[in-house]
Amino acid sequence: MKQDNSSLVEVVERRTFLKVLGSAGPAMAISACSPVPPEKIIPFVTPPEDVIPGVATWYASVCGECPAGCGTLVRTREGRAVKVEGNPEHPVNRGGLCVRGQSSLQGLYNPDRIPGPQRRRVTNAAAGQSVLETLPWDDAQQELIDRVQTLRDAGRGDRIAVITPPLTGTMAALTSAWVEALGGARWIRYEPFAYEAIRESNQQLFGRAEVPRYDFANADCLISFGADFLETFSSPVGYARDHAGQRRVRNGEKARFVQIEPRLSMTGASADEWHAVSPETEGLVAAAMVQTIIGEQRAQGVPPETQAQIAALVASTSPERVAATSGLSANTIRALAREFSDPARGPGHSLAVGGGVGVSGANATAAQSAVTLLNYVAGNIGATVDFGAASTLDASTYADMRALGESMRSGAIELAVIYNVNPVFSMPGEADFTGSLADVPFVISLSSLPDETTGHADLLLPTHTPLESWGDSNPQRGVYGLLQPTMQPVFDTRHAGDLMIAVGRALGGETAANFPRRGGFYRYLRDTWEAMQPTPEPVTDAADVEAETAAEEPDFETYWADALRRGGTTVAVAPVAVELRPGVFNTDLAGALSPPGRASRSHVLVAYPSLHFFDGRGANRPWLQEIPEPLLKTTWGTGIEMTAETANAIGAEEGQLVAVESDHGQVDASVLINPHLADGVVAMAIGQGHTNFGRYADGRGVNPT
Ligand code: SF4
Repeated sequence: MKQDNSSLVEVVERRTFLKVLGSAGPAMAISACSPVPPEKIIPFVTPPEDVIPGVATWYASVCGECPAGCGTLVRTREGRAVKVEGNPEHPVNRGGLCVRGQSSLQGLYNPDRIPGPQRRRVTNAAAGQSVLETLPWDDAQQELIDRVQTLRDAGRGDRIAVITPPLTGTMAALTSAWVEALGGARWIRYEPFAYEAIRESNQQLFGRAEVPRYDFANADCLISFGADFLETFSSPVGYARDHAGQRRVRNGEKARFVQIEPRLSMTGASADEWHAVSPETEGLVAAAMVQTIIGEQRAQGVPPETQAQIAALVASTSPERVAATSGLSANTIRALAREFSDPARGPGHSLAVGGGVGVSGANATAAQSAVTLLNYVAGNIGATVDFGAASTLDASTYADMRALGESMRSGAIELAVIYNVNPVFSMPGEADFTGSLADVPFVISLSSLPDETTGHADLLLPTHTPLESWGDSNPQRGVYGLLQPTMQPVFDTRHAGDLMIAVGRALGGETAANFPRRGGFYRYLRDTWEAMQPTPEPVTDAADVEAETAAEEPDFETYWADALRRGGTTVAVAPVAVELRPGVFNTDLAGALSPPGRASRSHVLVAYPSLHFFDGRGANRPWLQEIPEPLLKTTWGTGIEMTAETANAIGAEEGQLVAVESDHGQVDASVLINPHLADGVVAMAIGQGHTNFGRYADGRGVNPT
């Protein structure tokens, strides 16, 4: 092993093979061959009633691959889902669907899915060996009931942790009732990409911990501070649609798009201008733009006294000072500020977006505040930044997860019920969630697929995938999508909602009234939608009264059938006006924006979310592994991206295995030459490096988190 002077990178004298499209012929040949032997096809045993052989049936539903909640149309043939498309009627995605949504079929038919309930039996405790044994559903469900009942009846319901994704709609209401029935269990809504910095900064600025809706379509000048809104950011399919509209030539003019980030993203590759900046200096650039706009009296719709207060907040972030830190010239910062606040266009015609996960460091909340102030002084709040149609994402914070981990370690959690999230993989290594979970006496998993977290479960109760499930989704205010099962369950799974209702009923007591006495989740869902059905507006005009009398009474069955056919419904949302809170002006924004020191490290590692794998949840889909990464063209693996200069400096070459060391650990990764990185930056995609996620994911690439 050869050690160079850098404490970050040491070159390892062995080679690994990372497939890069366009490289040597054998690589491409191997890429085209699947290592997986042919599987038996699944026989068509019980045909559903509405199946006509040879004729496709389409069902409207909702994609469950990320919190964006895009509407889908699922094509089925002979009772099997065969293709997923975007639903043109759904307001979020309007017919589009990203690669992850397209790959949802490979979650449904994944050969590594948990086929039925299983219980872990320890075979050698000293060696940490165990086997999973199948058991009947009735026994498995009874064990779940017994476990929670024992704790609840002993007054220790608060020692149960329930970890779910950030649920919305009916499942959120049901889970809320469920944790209450368990005796006050601790409910964590875990989402690795929860835009916590955006929500926290909006809480500080406006008292609203929300991710607003960004109106890309109507922004004449768009500046993105690392937000990969065409890839993973918040609602990428809908925003891609809006952005396409924004880029159309209107009245002989085309909107401008500038991306500022330390590593060129696919989103940045679509920009008119791309500027590389040092990591964690995006907020400083935004603050310098705010200073320029106010200093040159270009602020729009902001009272003079508020301008003075904002100017004081950014007094020390002059373009010259920020240029020295960020690497972006003062002239460029000023030019961007002027373009962003063009008085000829008036207020509300530009848009700044920040918050790409790859650039969320220690100063992320302050950076978001600077970006929001930039929108504020350009008059964009309430115009291109809309809190009325804000995302409903209600995720627990990273601090909540760390606190849960501490409780687990201290023995305060006796039972963990984990539904379709994989914190063992996606929590940063420094949190050691694996170690925390190991201290929980009993872990129950409600996941469909095996993963690093189910690997720690004592009882596995596999649940349906979204394509097999009833459900609903409320991804943003006013949008309600409906999920319906597009086919019979492929494996011996149950709906998580059915399990919760069965447990809630069995526990009895006062809280039993919160669960339907008859029927399962489908009934609960219908009842919720029946209660939600809007009542007609009262009519006063005589002609309208006559027309209404002639019309049929609104009935729920018609409303429900229409919602199912269309994939949901929408309701109008009222605009929300926000005002800056006075306390904002007492903060040290400039100080909070300063990037943290690099200590002894020679480079900064930018870990960015993967277009294909998101936080890693898509890595078990062979389609996603096989589709080349759009800029680097890599497949079936990841590497450490660095410029040719960095590689030369450490004596490495493309494809060579190097050890990447940080304060949080060390990984070995192959060198990928990427010329589009800021000075001193190396980068890795998040999502690979699995160890228990099935045949397509395990052993591929590394996990930088
Ligand atoms: S953005 Fe992609 S993965 Fe997320 S809901 Fe929409 S289609 Fe599904």
